[in-house]
Amino acid sequence: MSTPAIAGGKPIREKYLAFGGPLISEDEIKEVVDTLRSGWLSTGPKTVAFENKFKEYIGRSYAIGVNSCTAALHLALMVSGIGEGDEVITTPLTFCATSNVILHLGARPVFVDVRMDDYNIDPDRIQERITKKTRAILPVHLYGHPCEMEAILGIADRYRLKVISDCAHAIESEYKGVKVGGMGDISCFSFYATKNLTTGEGGMITTNDPCLDERLRVLRLHGLSADAWKRYGEVDPSHYDVSIPGYKYNMMDIQAAIGLRQLEKIDEYHKRRERYWKIYDDAFDGMEEIKRPPVLKHIVHAYHLYPILVMEELLRIDRDGFRRALDKEGIGTGIHFQPIHLFSYYRRTFGFKKGDFPNAEYIGSYTISLPISASMEMRDVEDVVEGVRRIVRYYKR
Ligand SMILES: *Cc1c(COP(=O)(O)O)cnc(C)c1O
Repeated sequence: MSTPAIAGGKPIREKYLAFGGPLISEDEIKEVVDTLRSGWLSTGPKTVAFENKFKEYIGRSYAIGVNSCTAALHLALMVSGIGEGDEVITTPLTFCATSNVILHLGARPVFVDVRMDDYNIDPDRIQERITKKTRAILPVHLYGHPCEMEAILGIADRYRLKVISDCAHAIESEYKGVKVGGMGDISCFSFYATKNLTTGEGGMITTNDPCLDERLRVLRLHGLSADAWKRYGEVDPSHYDVSIPGYKYNMMDIQAAIGLRQLEKIDEYHKRRERYWKIYDDAFDGMEEIKRPPVLKHIVHAYHLYPILVMEELLRIDRDGFRRALDKEGIGTGIHFQPIHLFSYYRRTFGFKKGDFPNAEYIGSYTISLPISASMEMRDVEDVVEGVRRIVRYYKR
């Protein structure tokens, strides 16, 4: 039996496997250079082209490019009329941005615990949290596993609530044959460096509502009545109006250039991650010391993250020790996520405490995200499998 590096053995890898490394090829680089040489760097023709390709891919009528998913969520809530004193129902098991934007609008995040079937917001517990102040449900398709959208849309319909999806992990995700990014009122996407499709930093909003599209375009750029690209293309550039104090959230063409090329390869990269996912699943099948991530039957997973749960009672190390041991083998991992309600601001402001959302806390305490990105080679995947096996065997009770 080989000794883990943390216990004095030889590390599996010489070169460290960074977690979530992007895959950038020569065509992205060429497209960026082309943009730099074109003289048009900010929001312009490439942003428009990327928006058009993206809405086609998702199957929505409108797509609006912005500079992050956080900006996308902020604007999506704003145009949905969310403001002071309103309540938005969401999951505590997500990145802090999902819930921070609710606070930016003076509204209150109302958390509903996740279910263990898919680690997503439990639709059976949503209704009991609806009040007169509830305006929207904000489902997060965690790790790329779609939420139970039929139930969520049904509840939203009954109570006249908006559905704004956090699709930061879920560009490729499908629920009963439909892309989740095409469901509900508005969907928000992230193109951050570690996401399935990256533009370094960037985001997108999709909707089928032409009025929302128009308002979102105005709000993403200072509240100006037309984009700079249109403005300077017009005969008289001095005529524009500021109808509302908007934001500086626009996507630039340098980002869109990367996005255009990334989008061409999205299904190829998705298949590659699916292959890696299956390798992990097969390798860890029957290994009681770790629990594999759930995948329900009626969905297409985006395979954005592969979170295992470390069963501490069967091991002589805890979750953080397991992570450190993988790190010593040369394997970078992540934690997705620490539940939001336990962060100091949220405890202080809303009085949340341990035990409020037991499923989210359980997952948050024992989860480790193993690397699963298109930039990995088969060798890297085998190293991760070997690393997990080595640590489990050595620290088994
Ligand atoms: C990454 C992420 C975000 C934020 O995306 P940015 O583009 O970095 O603003 C929001 N929600 C979830 C679930 C994420 O993982």
